[in-house]
Amino acid sequence: MAAMESQVARHGTVSVFFGEKSGKYPDGNQVTVRGADTLAAFDTPLVANRLGADLLDADLVVLGHVHEDHMAGLGRMRHAPLYVHEADVEAARSWEGLARHYGYAPEVLAGMRTAIERDFSYAPRPDAQAYKDGASWDLGGGVKVSAFHMPGHTSGHCVLLVEPDGIAFIGDIDLSSFGPYYGDATSSLADFRRTLEAVKGIPANVWITSHHKGVITDRETFLALLKAFASRLDAREEAIAGYLERHPSTLAELVAHRFVYPRNLEGLFYADAERRTIEQHLESLARAGRVKQEAADEGGRWRTA
Ligand SMILES: [Zn+2]
Repeated sequence: MAAMESQVARHGTVSVFFGEKSGKYPDGNQVTVRGADTLAAFDTPLVANRLGADLLDADLVVLGHVHEDHMAGLGRMRHAPLYVHEADVEAARSWEGLARHYGYAPEVLAGMRTAIERDFSYAPRPDAQAYKDGASWDLGGGVKVSAFHMPGHTSGHCVLLVEPDGIAFIGDIDLSSFGPYYGDATSSLADFRRTLEAVKGIPANVWITSHHKGVITDRETFLALLKAFASRLDAREEAIAGYLERHPSTLAELVAHRFVYPRNLEGLFYADAERRTIEQHLESLARAGRVKQEAADEGGRWRTA
């Protein structure tokens, strides 16, 4: 591929190479951190494939979480050790691990594999090493990266904090108007809710998302974006509760109605992600005593309690 200039922002030891459309999916923003003796890369989105020495010189790669769009440049980084949180590491090591991580229907998974090999140069990394919450990497000259386990989007999703700059790579807590994604088998709505609170406590003054929002440099803006992002969870939950008030429905009927993806858009995994998302909201509403499910022999519909 011809070398293309990527827009770059520098903040202290951190460089951000913006993907197309400020890293909107399927692209993302490539982050690197330069210590006195070590260069680290966080994730490798599509834009990674357009970078030269800025990325290829990295001595190590740390993934904030595993998804196809964060692994796109890993094939060029085989010389660098790869670190992945222990709850996501199997998804990086093999296709079987990634398939369990997505948890979609077999025919959807087969289509996904073809699509991500083509669009994201997908290749597993059997050599990926597991890290735990609190892991840190010393990059020399007092520059340090620390992992904060912030699950929900995936079970191993982490925020990576660069010190002493106080720069947090918050990955797919991406503050987008779409809202949080928790549609995979290892995603968790309940964990995401806790994470959206916990992320406020990370001692940072700059926040970098994988997609779209990019770099946020003041706490007030960060908190406002986080609040809007979190409100999408409640909006989905209320939309489902409101719909059930008028239309008692089976899970399949709710999936067909769509509460996450627009009805006029087709995506390989949309129905499966929609099902997993709605299921978790039903669980949350049932726990709050707001909805209940009829017995299977009565149709198994969900209705207002
Ligand atoms: Zn993701």
